[in-house]
Amino acid sequence: MPRIAVIGAGISGLCTAHYLVRELSAAQRDAEILILESEETPGGKMRTVRQDGFNMEWGPNGFLTNKPYSLDLVRELGAEDRLSPSSDLARKRFIYSGGALQRLPESPPAFLKSKLMTTSGKLRIFMEPFAKPPSRMVEDESLGDFARRRLGPEALEKLIDPMVTGIFCGDPERMSLKSCFPTIYDMERKYGSLVKGMLAIRQERRRKGLKQAMSAGPGGVLTSFDDGTQVLVDLLAGKLADGLHTGVTVDRVERRDGRYRLSVTERGKQDEILADAVVVSTPAYAASALLSPLDAALADALAAIPYAPVSVVAVGYDKATLQNPLDGFGFLIPKKEQRKILGALWDSSVFPNRAPQGKALIRAMVGGVRSPELASAPAADLVRLVRQELHDIMGITAEPLLGRVFFHEKGIPQYFVGHGRLLDRMDTALSAFPGLYLNSNAYRGVSLNDCVLQSRLTAQRLCKELV
Ligand SMILES: Cc1cc2nc3c(=O)[nH]c(=O)nc-3n(C[C@H](O)[C@H](O)[C@H](O)COP(=O)(O)OP(=O)(O)OC[C@H]3O[C@@H](n4cnc5c(N)ncnc54)[C@H](O)[C@@H]3O)c2cc1C
Repeated sequence: MPRIAVIGAGISGLCTAHYLVRELSAAQRDAEILILESEETPGGKMRTVRQDGFNMEWGPNGFLTNKPYSLDLVRELGAEDRLSPSSDLARKRFIYSGGALQRLPESPPAFLKSKLMTTSGKLRIFMEPFAKPPSRMVEDESLGDFARRRLGPEALEKLIDPMVTGIFCGDPERMSLKSCFPTIYDMERKYGSLVKGMLAIRQERRRKGLKQAMSAGPGGVLTSFDDGTQVLVDLLAGKLADGLHTGVTVDRVERRDGRYRLSVTERGKQDEILADAVVVSTPAYAASALLSPLDAALADALAAIPYAPVSVVAVGYDKATLQNPLDGFGFLIPKKEQRKILGALWDSSVFPNRAPQGKALIRAMVGGVRSPELASAPAADLVRLVRQELHDIMGITAEPLLGRVFFHEKGIPQYFVGHGRLLDRMDTALSAFPGLYLNSNAYRGVSLNDCVLQSRLTAQRLCKELV
């Protein structure tokens, strides 16, 4: 029976193993699946920390239903009844601009009335269908250049920059449009304009009898679970328990006699595991270290993917002391405002189970590529900094009941201009190694939906290769 080693038990590793079980069973093929995770608990960036009745997300808040992949997975796990869609307030998003929170408009009339953009900034957006086409000379355009070209500099500053911060904690001037937002890249190429593309898609949806949801934020409904995103990790880990080994760090992968030899350290003890196929579901920098004995070019390409550090600062309050209704999703801050936080999510307004009755939970993001040094500040300093920022931005003076900091030293991979070339180099190197796959959020999407989809595709490819 062949043995498959999945290295890393974040959502990508867990999903890869889950889909491998499914695909192998459908192909009536047996294989031993080992999942090797260096931490004592699975989940990677996805974890819910519980304290004093608060459910605080360590990383992701949930997934969007505009893509079906996470939802399909939950259905497959028979856990639909544990889903918790966000309240309608999730659609009420704010941008901090000009010293005040401005609501992100949800419809064209609201956009016209909005104080977020100047009249000339709005007019420039309306000119989008007449914007210059992409230059044939530029193979991989930055998000900044793309937004300036199609929507104008004000839209870049007030809409695109905060959006890129919200998803990647990144810098639009360095991020690749094609790698970060392939759908938008394709839309421009197919329809010649984003407005034309969106109208065509709307028409197509209407033709198919699908509901039209207007939203200023990303489409779909933000969805989590009754007890936080940890539920999904626990469900997958429970199903895969037989093959899941935590506290096992893979140090290196080598090829020997047509198999892969994994050198591992388990609680200080070194050992060796032989496998016929390997899926590396660690972050890219870890993949680089453990694959360097196998192929230096592959390791170099992996090491070239940078990561942004970010700290999630959770503060819990007694609602009665807040003097702010927290009636929305939260806010993001454009770089130009020069604030110390990137934004804040009003978690308990969106998912009521995140705080006990009468209490409120806010999670602020600090760091990113904008101010990486701040992300690693001592926890007490970060809580103080966030309190000051929430005071200045939202008028909150109350003493928090709780303050917790979740530091992600290498939080979110950055798909810089040239990311596609790095992926090509990796694919070329991998073609020399049968049964070796890379699958994590470092390559083709950082959202949970993307991780779930890429895991399914990886499992399908590997299963095909084995059968
Ligand atoms: C603060 C924050 C907020 C986010 N919010 C959202 C959100 O709201 N919605 C959304 O869709 N996405 C969100 N994301 C993105 C999403 O959480 C991640 O893209 C996703 O969880 C990454 O999963 P992964 O399995 O690819 O990687 P990871 O979660 O990083 O997992 C990799 C695993 O590999 C293990 N590992 C590393 N090296 C080794 C080794 N040598 N041997 C064995 N194991 C090893 C690690 O311990 C880890 O468990 C957020 C991310 C962050 C950081």
